[in-house]
Amino acid sequence: MTIWNLGSINADLVYRVPHLPAPGETLSATAREVWLGGKGANMSVAAARAGAHVRHVGAVGRDGAWMVERLLEYGVDTRGIATRDGASGHAVIAVDPAGENLILLHPGANREVSGETVAAALEEAAPGDSFLFQNETSAQEEGAAAAAARGLRVVHAAAPFEAEAVRAVLPHLDLLVLNAVEAAQLEAATGRDLSDLTVADIVVTLGSEGCRWIATARGEVVTIPALPVTPVDTTGAGDTFTGYLVAGLDRGMPMRQALGLATRAAALMVTRAGTADVIPDLAEVQAMRL
Ligand code: ADP
Repeated sequence: MTIWNLGSINADLVYRVPHLPAPGETLSATAREVWLGGKGANMSVAAARAGAHVRHVGAVGRDGAWMVERLLEYGVDTRGIATRDGASGHAVIAVDPAGENLILLHPGANREVSGETVAAALEEAAPGDSFLFQNETSAQEEGAAAAAARGLRVVHAAAPFEAEAVRAVLPHLDLLVLNAVEAAQLEAATGRDLSDLTVADIVVTLGSEGCRWIATARGEVVTIPALPVTPVDTTGAGDTFTGYLVAGLDRGMPMRQALGLATRAAALMVTRAGTADVIPDLAEVQAMRL
């Protein structure tokens, strides 16, 4: 089966600075690193490393060819990525010696994905495929509606959280993945308990506490503990978790088993510094000794 991932592709431009700049200050960086990032790209890489066939649907600017190349190297099918005239999505990240950061995000081409592009991409999708999306592109509502109409498993990771954006896609979802903060925000926005939503399966990730799976129709709640690791960098843990979860479901695993796989992959990920470039592959996840 194929996982169709409508998702952001960002260049993370990381500048090491002696201190975070003050308003009006001009500051020289001591070093610069450029990484592939964006929640969408991270999830595509995670699902591909888990062994799934992933078709990324999105857009980059003319400066983004290297990111498409990188995704391809990481095993992602990039035929659904369009090139736009403007800039690619990018984050300018200043990091001080204490690790404190300041981030300026420009969505760029990520917000130039049209509903027609997504619908056209999904023409090739078959029932049983999955459609995954986050909240860093455009055309999410059209994509979710088209995917649901075609009988795909529709999965949304509601990050970054925006009440209106998630509310608009709720009727189309089979599975919703949120972290604890986003879960509280959604309950506040809807005035309802997560278990009262009509989405069949909801997974709330709880950092070092693991995750909670709410099977709303059965009223069943299952908690899966995290694995005991010493965290080095939790960036990308949630994206790795979601990519592996969807890859597990795509290969026919029951939810509990797919959550177990996602939990292992995310635990290994928090022991590594970096994002897309260091997401573990299935062999590494299976070989983990705990
Ligand atoms: P996000 O990064 O999206 O906020 P979480 O912090 O909830 O998401 O982490 C996602 C998943 O990563 C968790 O459900 C858990 O499986 C794993 N994880 C996160 N932090 C740790 C940790 N300190 N130890 C082990 N696993 C972790």
